[in-house]
Amino acid sequence: MKNIDFQKILSSARKMESENAELLSEMVRIQSFSSQEKEMIEFTAERFKDAGAGVDIDPMGNLLAKIGDGDPIIAIDAHIDTVGVGDIKLWEKDPFSGEISDGKVYGRGASDQKGGAAAMVTAAKIINEMGGTDRGTILFTCTVQEEDCDGLCWQYIINEDKIKPNLVILTEPTNGNINRGHRGRMEMEAKTFGVSCHASAPERGDNAIYKLASVLLELEKLNNKLGSDEFLGKGTLAATKLYSSSPSLCAVADGASVHIDRRMTLGETEQSAVAEILDLPSMNKYGGKVEVLEYFTPSWKGLTYKTKKVFPVWALEENHPVVKSAVECYTKLFAEKPTVDKWTFSTNGVATMGMFGIPSFGYGPGFENQAHAPNEYCPIEHLTQCSAFYAAYALAYGK
Ligand SMILES: [Zn+2]
Repeated sequence: MKNIDFQKILSSARKMESENAELLSEMVRIQSFSSQEKEMIEFTAERFKDAGAGVDIDPMGNLLAKIGDGDPIIAIDAHIDTVGVGDIKLWEKDPFSGEISDGKVYGRGASDQKGGAAAMVTAAKIINEMGGTDRGTILFTCTVQEEDCDGLCWQYIINEDKIKPNLVILTEPTNGNINRGHRGRMEMEAKTFGVSCHASAPERGDNAIYKLASVLLELEKLNNKLGSDEFLGKGTLAATKLYSSSPSLCAVADGASVHIDRRMTLGETEQSAVAEILDLPSMNKYGGKVEVLEYFTPSWKGLTYKTKKVFPVWALEENHPVVKSAVECYTKLFAEKPTVDKWTFSTNGVATMGMFGIPSFGYGPGFENQAHAPNEYCPIEHLTQCSAFYAAYALAYGK
């Protein structure tokens, strides 16, 4: 750790409290659903320029803002896309007003997770006020398409932009805690096949729907048998949608499939998750197949970067030096120890740590239970604390 003045950083962040809240409010007013992030990326690029960072927008449309140069690289990441608003009648305030009241900023994306992006901008400002860094690069990434395909942006940054950080801080909401992992997930379909015939004489055909019915009952039982991890909890499996094919509604189905949402705990992989479905007695009996689905929606720049919908589980050990350093930084800033926890949902960590093994941890403004919920908000105090933490951690631990 490099000796820095933690309390000076915290008081700088406190001075920027209303600036931070205003910035998040402005960000909330800019709609940025997945694959439609152009305006939000361009707005945030200008704010990072104002904060004294060098900015670049990559061919996928991710914003890369940096202070310093060369190795090592410490990256601080915020996805800046949001989900939709759902049933507007459930909102007490306009989801895009960015209203500031009761010490909170309200609106879609306030917690998930434009608050992280706003705190990153003010952290960059603090870092530059402190004289910048002479030890490698502090890279602020505002990434796209996370809500639809977590980690895709980081597959692109690492494989195509050829930027591989040494450490990543994820700024998704952590309820004020330091998070060190979460379950993985994948999307797949289990399929059965048959032969169609006129529905007036079903005995002539072979109905794929009845075969899938047997598979479905076995899938429900399989969920109860899945493994568990002490820290991350149990792997789960849920049937979320059914499909079938036939020449008409007056014909026996020649194909049937079920969409499966699979959450993977430590020790579970794409291969093991597919194999346990193929091993079900009905899948064997009927020659069922499993298809792992793919994501190929173009980014706002029009770039398509196809990937399997497989998002690996990850966790850093509680005594990993990076987790210890995060706890130390938090304790020095706020004079108390943080809770070290995990996310229930999934983040870009599926790529940074899950696929590429880059030590990653989370500390971000807002509450996980606000994500994707109506009347979403972020406490302004969280913005201040996160802004101070990002600046302090990057300066003290950026080797
Ligand atoms: Zn998120």
